[in-house]
Amino acid sequence: MRRFSFLFPALFLLCPHLAGQEAASLSPGVRAFVSIEDPVFAITHATVVDGTGSPALADQTVLVSGGLIQAVGPASTVQIPAGATVMDGTGHTLIPGIVGMHDHIFYPAGPGHYNTLEFSAPRLYLAAGVTTIRTTGGMEPYAEMGLRDAIRDGRIPGPEMHVTSPYLEGPGAFTLQMHELESPEEARRMVAYWADTGVDDFKAYTNITRAQLAAAIDEIHARGMKITGHLCSIGFREAAELGIDNLEHGLVVNTEFFPGKEPDQCPSSRQNRQTLLSMDVDGPEIQETIRILVEAGVAITSTLPVFELSVPGRPPVDQGVLDAMAPSARDSYLTRRATIGASSGSTAGDMLAMEMAFERSFVEAGGLLIAGPDPTGYGGVLPGFGNFRQIELLVEAGFSPLEAIKIATHNGALYLEKLDRIGTLEAGKQADMVLIQGDPTTDISDIRNVVTVFKNGVGYDSAKLFAAVKGTVGVR
Ligand SMILES: [Zn+2]
Repeated sequence: MRRFSFLFPALFLLCPHLAGQEAASLSPGVRAFVSIEDPVFAITHATVVDGTGSPALADQTVLVSGGLIQAVGPASTVQIPAGATVMDGTGHTLIPGIVGMHDHIFYPAGPGHYNTLEFSAPRLYLAAGVTTIRTTGGMEPYAEMGLRDAIRDGRIPGPEMHVTSPYLEGPGAFTLQMHELESPEEARRMVAYWADTGVDDFKAYTNITRAQLAAAIDEIHARGMKITGHLCSIGFREAAELGIDNLEHGLVVNTEFFPGKEPDQCPSSRQNRQTLLSMDVDGPEIQETIRILVEAGVAITSTLPVFELSVPGRPPVDQGVLDAMAPSARDSYLTRRATIGASSGSTAGDMLAMEMAFERSFVEAGGLLIAGPDPTGYGGVLPGFGNFRQIELLVEAGFSPLEAIKIATHNGALYLEKLDRIGTLEAGKQADMVLIQGDPTTDISDIRNVVTVFKNGVGYDSAKLFAAVKGTVGVR
């Protein structure tokens, strides 16, 4: 409370009409999804999960003005200014806007090809409470940067986007949509070009060589930017040594324990998984890798939903997901899903369990775990829906709901170096928050019951956004 009375007048004077301006500058196409654009409003009697991992607080009032959270405190004590719109949040929970850290705008559209979903992906992310994304690799960088700018300017509804570079890939790319680097000098030139052209960060891919990655990291860090990698030709310890900032997917893609590992060569993922499954997360080798990553400050991105696709019978069929898909994408997904089991069998389930144990152990050792759904594989992991699933799977992995929400919000903002502005639900932060019916700290599946998504203090109707994309995922 003391914090509120101290902060409120200062912030109020500083940004009196930001939310009003934000709402005014929205195009009619965006405004169609806006349910709350009052410049000053309060949500009363809600449960608040602030994203720091602190326990949920019941019967809270959150006051928003000028696009900023002005106060969070007991409903009995937070003063609501005259003229403010008041909404009763009884039976609802507020969490910070989700910061999705492996949230592609593209989706598989047949073997080795990806369609950019500039229509459905931004709407689905926002509908699910995702207010910030890192795209973590793009096939059409100009489309992604254009989408980022259109969202920023209020022309398209969607999350704030951090656009990742085209993949920095070495020889042997699995899709023609990726460029194959031929030298370290070319890696440096590619980084410089895309940094100058306006991407926000970088991603290395599975066949990059150590020399190419070293050159890329040098150029990226010289520009004050960050690079993540879905690696295979380079093991985790080598990547940490080279100075990478973030590793995607976790243990499943770490090849450094594979007995036949050749330098700069990516072994078969099936064989590598056999090696990993013969090991123990608590054993000395994996624990030493965790220690090295934590010491080097390398973050790990959890992408459990895309791994779950290989496990027979998982995830539970979600009618909302099927309805969102274009008929061709739905047929392709269901046909492929029906074949899972015969080929991957129980190993995929074991690998998923091992990945979950690895992620828990990494966090227990002090590592920064961030999260995103990675809507790729053979389809079925969708923007937005996949973010719900990611949080549910973190809880299945053994994290508490409070920890899972922290990983999906606070930790992403921390990695992006935006924690001063987003990532938690606290006075002084941008009003990016999600109003959920129910209480995800007692039943994590309540995370799906999103009512309103606030971004910059403007409330979007989640159901309307979901309804708008029906039948489109996979095509546009
Ligand atoms: Zn990905």
